[in-house]
Amino acid sequence: MKVIANWKMHGFKEDYLHWYKNLSKTADENLFDDLGIAPPFTLLDECKIHQSKIKLGAQNISHLPEGPVTGEISAAMIKNSGANFVILGHSERRELHTETEEVIKSKILEASNHNIHPVLCIGEPKEIYAAKKTEDFLYSQLQGSLNDLNNINLSIAYEPIWAIGTGDVAKPSDINKIHSIIKEICSREFDVKLENIIYGGSVNDQNSKEIFEQEHVNGALIGGASLDGHSFGRIANNFFEIHNG
Ligand code: PEP
Repeated sequence: MKVIANWKMHGFKEDYLHWYKNLSKTADENLFDDLGIAPPFTLLDECKIHQSKIKLGAQNISHLPEGPVTGEISAAMIKNSGANFVILGHSERRELHTETEEVIKSKILEASNHNIHPVLCIGEPKEIYAAKKTEDFLYSQLQGSLNDLNNINLSIAYEPIWAIGTGDVAKPSDINKIHSIIKEICSREFDVKLENIIYGGSVNDQNSKEIFEQEHVNGALIGGASLDGHSFGRIANNFFEIHNG
């Protein structure tokens, strides 16, 4: 999946069907193979029951396989609910749940062991961006969460923290440059197969076309603008226009 809706902590059972109907009114269902949705855990079953075209993912998993860890959800459990990908290391989890690179690495391994595609989020805070130290920062995030892993198939979402939910989208040419650097680091330093590299941070139906046009951008991770089915559909159409048209 290349264009992913991250619903974060939004949505109730009755919302999904309405969202899907609006999405399919706006965008061509035959092209939905490249789309993904990561709803809250509570809606995984609902999404699975109502459609099978959009790839289904979770927003997190435990770094442990099973056991006495109250409140956690394992990779095997999301697999059992029909998920085939998982968003890992989102900046909100790093910040609010103090997730370390070491924990994120264990989660990548857990996902991979259960045949769930990891979408690893990395991105710099504003002060690092302002100090022009983005490259070093991303390098150390990648080093911390990918070092020592073997033969892992994953995608990366580059999400500058200052762009998430702020309306302050990164410049498309900068995104392109950072993506090419991330690709280069991954192929040089780690035993991973980078399936897609996607951008996240205030993507909407107005700015997505120019972002999708960039050579090293394979898709997008979308928060706020993905909650409305029509809006997500318009973003999907911008993607289809460039990649299928
Ligand atoms: C996100 O949280 O992954 C995200 C990209 O959010 P938004 O699109 O709202 O900036």
